Amino acid sequence: MSHYPDKFDFLMVGGGVFGLTAAIELAKRKYKIGLLNPDTIPHHLAASSDISKAVRMEYGSDTEYFRMVEICIDRWKHWNDLFGAKLYHEVGFLLLCKHPFESKRQSFEQTSCANLIKAGYALDRMDANAIKQRFPVVNTEVYMNANFNPKGGFADATLTIEKLANYATSLGVQILQGQTATELLIDKGQLWGVKTKEGVIYHCGHAMVTAGPYSILLLPELAPYMKATGHPVFWLKPKDPTPFTPPHLSVFSADLSNTGWYGFPWSDKYGIVKVAKHSNGVDLHPEHDDRQVTENEIIEMRLFLNDAFPALSEAPLVYTRRCLYTDTLDGHFWIDHHPETKGLLVGTGGSGHAFKMAPLLGEMLADVAEGGSNPFSTRHRWRDPTKGTTQMEEARYIVGGKI
Ligand SMILES: Cc1cc2nc3c(=O)[nH]c(=O)nc-3n(C[C@H](O)[C@H](O)[C@H](O)COP(=O)(O)OP(=O)(O)OC[C@H]3O[C@@H](n4cnc5c(N)ncnc54)[C@H](O)[C@@H]3O)c2cc1C
Repeated sequence: MSHYPDKFDFLMVGGGVFGLTAAIELAKRKYKIGLLNPDTIPHHLAASSDISKAVRMEYGSDTEYFRMVEICIDRWKHWNDLFGAKLYHEVGFLLLCKHPFESKRQSFEQTSCANLIKAGYALDRMDANAIKQRFPVVNTEVYMNANFNPKGGFADATLTIEKLANYATSLGVQILQGQTATELLIDKGQLWGVKTKEGVIYHCGHAMVTAGPYSILLLPELAPYMKATGHPVFWLKPKDPTPFTPPHLSVFSADLSNTGWYGFPWSDKYGIVKVAKHSNGVDLHPEHDDRQVTENEIIEMRLFLNDAFPALSEAPLVYTRRCLYTDTLDGHFWIDHHPETKGLLVGTGGSGHAFKMAPLLGEMLADVAEGGSNPFSTRHRWRDPTKGTTQMEEARYIVGGKI
């Protein structure tokens, strides 16, 4: 066992969007920062490694997430300039509804639009004819109502992680790839270091566990409050991409809170159309369980496309992936000091919706790490959600109300 020569003020255990944004913000505040991650960053199994993540202000009646994304969108645009790359693509967000907007079943869409109006945004409501005009691939026999919000779109997640990692390094963060934390070293209730599978001990004043679903393996005391759940992602390759290309299609949700289905327009960079499901998912052990998408899930996806985008329903399926949420029982993130161990912090619990918050996450994590608070950190602090706790993220289609 060797000892790493440097001692860090803060050592991040995991280089996804939680770990990297925290490292950057703490480095800006002049702390000595290290970051451990297995293999390379972006890690191929990380939730933060993906071609696209939706950036939507539509959070139902939840004004706090709405406000967070409103701030984030302006900062995503700043990152585009800062990094000289298109991380955030403002192609808009299309809310598709199966039922009249006023119906109870569309409460997510109704309350999302109410928040837009309250914040001074003009709605762009469409009936079946108007949808057919502007988004001709939508099956308006089924989806007959919609609202289009031009302020929204998607982030190129993997590119964002690459840029954030380079930026962190430029700020003096020591990114230690090929290092897998296996043990948090604690003496008399005080954390003093982290041991890795590769046989190195890292000394630090504080360690922040930002290892996504693996955080629960490093900190089993998190298991009553969160779990790893696997969610299917599908890449399709339509012969003629034009009708799926902005402005003919944007990022969309298809009666999301009642079906879980959402997706992205044609990507010139990757040559596909991506659809995915924001629902219960399947419980998975991050290390042991198989992550294959099943035949049944593919059939379900085809049935959805047949319903929503018939022109896409026969398109070749070129790739599937089951990606892992670090799913808290209430759907809020988990950002706090460990209640018993000094010098130990946790930054995780993305619950399938944290990537869009990247431009705000860093300061939320750093403010809490410094012993303070952040205007948005209150509901993400250490808490005691019980098994009966209801999922609070209103966009998510949760069968039985609980994950
Ligand atoms: C299918 C899917 C779709 C999603 N869609 C959206 C979306 O549209 N919009 C949105 O806002 N959010 C979305 N999300 C959520 C978002 O991707 C996550 O909330 C976010 O990326 C979580 O980041 P993280 O840093 O916690 O975890 P990760 O990105 O998983 O990073 C954890 C890192 O820790 C490393 N690690 C693991 N074990 C160890 C160890 N022992 N030692 C050191 N390092 C370790 C891993 O290699 C990895 O790099 C989606 C997530 C999934 C799975």
